[in-house]
Amino acid sequence: MSQYADLTVNGQALWHDLTTTAAFGGTAKGGICRLALSDEDFQVRAWFEQTCKAFGCTVTYDSMGNQFARRAGLQNDLPPIMMGSHLDTQVTGGRFDGILGVLGGIAVLRALHDAGIHTRHPVEVVNWTNEEGARFSPPMLASGVFGGAFTEEFAGSRTDATGITLRQELERGGFVGEEHCGQHPAAAYFELHIEQGPVLEAKGCTIGVVTGVQGMRWHEVVVRGRSAHAGTTPMPMRKDALLVAARMIDQVNAVAQAFAPDGLSTIGIITAFPASSNVVPREVRFTVDLRNPSEAALQGMEEDFLRRMQECAQAADVEVSIMPTWNSPAVHFDKRCVACVRESGKELNYSVQDIVSGAGHDAVYVSRVVPTAMIFVPCWQGISHNEAESATQEDATAGSNVMLHAVLMADQEF
Ligand SMILES: [Zn+2]
Repeated sequence: MSQYADLTVNGQALWHDLTTTAAFGGTAKGGICRLALSDEDFQVRAWFEQTCKAFGCTVTYDSMGNQFARRAGLQNDLPPIMMGSHLDTQVTGGRFDGILGVLGGIAVLRALHDAGIHTRHPVEVVNWTNEEGARFSPPMLASGVFGGAFTEEFAGSRTDATGITLRQELERGGFVGEEHCGQHPAAAYFELHIEQGPVLEAKGCTIGVVTGVQGMRWHEVVVRGRSAHAGTTPMPMRKDALLVAARMIDQVNAVAQAFAPDGLSTIGIITAFPASSNVVPREVRFTVDLRNPSEAALQGMEEDFLRRMQECAQAADVEVSIMPTWNSPAVHFDKRCVACVRESGKELNYSVQDIVSGAGHDAVYVSRVVPTAMIFVPCWQGISHNEAESATQEDATAGSNVMLHAVLMADQEF
């Protein structure tokens, strides 16, 4: 291990920061409502700026309002080693989702500052604008512009429920920086996050080494049968779209079973027409969400799903049409960055296991342009996007320590 083997973040200061910033948009139930570019978000952005400047960092914005705090290195012509996540929340959000990644980054800056360590690269913490998508859809909007998934014009034109555009809110807060979003170079990017799932807690494991993010494909299925009178149409003479949909739903579940344990399939919305208690439904629409960490397996799941739907429709002599509505390819994080996380976790003697993220994160888009990895820590019962979201000081500190040492390793290797 490096000469800084004993270096750790200040866990109490980290916890204090988590508590302090939770007041910006804090809710009665102990969560946070801090929608992107709201007044509460402006408050936490001001706090971020002041706090980082106190460590001698410079704070800048790019044209999407992404906030960068930079601690100078010995070779300032090198691109920075970057850490970060987001400070915006869901309407009934928790105190850790995204926030831990930014404040954990600040804890790393503080550790470097307090120990007087000079890194080769500059080290930065970034707060990405509008990750949640709760106010301006879609999610991960500004990191998406950074990674080239969206244009700045598209992102700026997104409106909230009242018709205000993201661009207007960026201007109101004075967050439109001169640097064009995506022009900010970085040597590596590390994002610390709560798992938002139950796996680490169930296994009693402290550190999840995130190797990638699973792929996701969405479809809308429309089943067309024939409406008929519920009292006068004999059972053999019906084309009941809902009955066929019920069989299809069971088959959608069978797709995931056929690709166990990695395959996941979910039906979240189902609508029947004409929705009358004494009419045989003529049409049913339902959504299908298929996920797998392997793109090849996901492709196999999709083919299996399409085949099963056709078989159900043919057997019942109804029509089915299936439209893809969203496709998010599987992401594999940078092997060297992942190794920095894994080695740091082991050298710090934490229990460590590889894990694939089930949720999207800013790191997904950042990884398109910067070598990237993520660190997960457990959260209570896997609950997230919920005011009851909870993590321990011990785990928050452990994750930040792993990030600190991953950054120091990357500083030597990149
Ligand atoms: Zn998040």
